[in-house]
Amino acid sequence: MPDVFADLVGQDEAVAELRRAAAAAAAVLRAGAADQAPALIGDADSALADDAAPGGVDPAAGMTHAWIFTGPPGSGRSVAARAFAAALECVHGTGCGECPGCRTTMGGTHADVRLVVPEGLSIGVNEMRALVLRAASTPSGGRWQVVVIEDADRLTEAAGNALLKAIEEPPPRTVFLLCAPSTHPDDISVTIRSRCRVVPLRQPPAAAVAEVLVRRDGITPDVAQWAAAAAQGHVGRARRLARDPEARKRREAVLAVPRRLTGVGAAFDAASALIEAAEAEAEASVTEADAAERAALETALGAGGTGRGASGAIRGAAGQLKELEKRQKSRATRAQRDALDRALVDLAGFYRDALTMALRAPVAPVHTDTAALAGAGAQKWDAEGALRRLEAVLACRSAIEANVKPRIAVEAMMLALWKG
Ligand SMILES: [Zn+2]
Repeated sequence: MPDVFADLVGQDEAVAELRRAAAAAAAVLRAGAADQAPALIGDADSALADDAAPGGVDPAAGMTHAWIFTGPPGSGRSVAARAFAAALECVHGTGCGECPGCRTTMGGTHADVRLVVPEGLSIGVNEMRALVLRAASTPSGGRWQVVVIEDADRLTEAAGNALLKAIEEPPPRTVFLLCAPSTHPDDISVTIRSRCRVVPLRQPPAAAVAEVLVRRDGITPDVAQWAAAAAQGHVGRARRLARDPEARKRREAVLAVPRRLTGVGAAFDAASALIEAAEAEAEASVTEADAAERAALETALGAGGTGRGASGAIRGAAGQLKELEKRQKSRATRAQRDALDRALVDLAGFYRDALTMALRAPVAPVHTDTAALAGAGAQKWDAEGALRRLEAVLACRSAIEANVKPRIAVEAMMLALWKG
């Protein structure tokens, strides 16, 4: 039976560290039960830990109360954080994958594990304060209170400060697991970073991604290898490409762009097509959730209710609906940006193929199905021309990340791709 770390693809070093930490955490609980060393001691106070355990046997040494998982998108940051949370709640302290602690954590229903998945562009301060407050309570299962924050780089400054306070003065049985692309100050504040232990994840090799698609998802080896290469190390994206014909169709449309760039007019047309495809994809992914949330809120507010307190409830309801609409709009914007970013990553892969071919570098192409087209580009443009085009795609991604209007950034990119 695979344990909770089985889905962490190609991350042997990180898994080894997390296993050690889970074992140390279990030792802390055992020592606590025997009333020898009840509290967890963090990295920032490690001098204290040495004082506390002069004999050298310190059960808390391998464990700390705040962690950051970093790595490129698709490397498995949130998979790692959830698996570690399960190992902390595991009754055997190992992450066996079978006990109630492991199963409820992996299923998202453990009472002491809170998962923050921001759907909009940022995580607000009210959400964070409520979370920190609940995380300070005694774990009902007798082990740890675990807070997993996916996309911690989307914390607002105020929310970051609320979190920092909790990390600086941690309740003895609370563990914070943050996920972020990197420890760059743009992603995570220096003060939070200084209080956390960092677990860097790497982009998993295509062979490891293909292996997991075959083993866990029952995908045929041919398709798995193609999807793993095309997804450039992004496990979730590889799975979608292998299973979802719509995702494959969208990818094909993106990879048809280089062929279509025959003039200024065509460049603007290609920009419009790319933006509209991203909008359509985003809309398909959020519309259903929006309608369900609105219906649930209206039911909860008892739409059409009369009697005492009804008018007050209606005044409150208007505010709540407005709040919901704001959240949904933010989520839609995020979904659009994510869809566009995926398209740009595919496009960058094409020009990277052209570049490596022009340089005659002995590496496998990202997109095997457009390799011939990339080869023709390599001949026409040379390495320099291919590099300029690759840089134009990467510049477009950075511009959108820096809040340039997507249409403007994409149009500029298409013109640069056409002109070279
Ligand atoms: Zn277990």
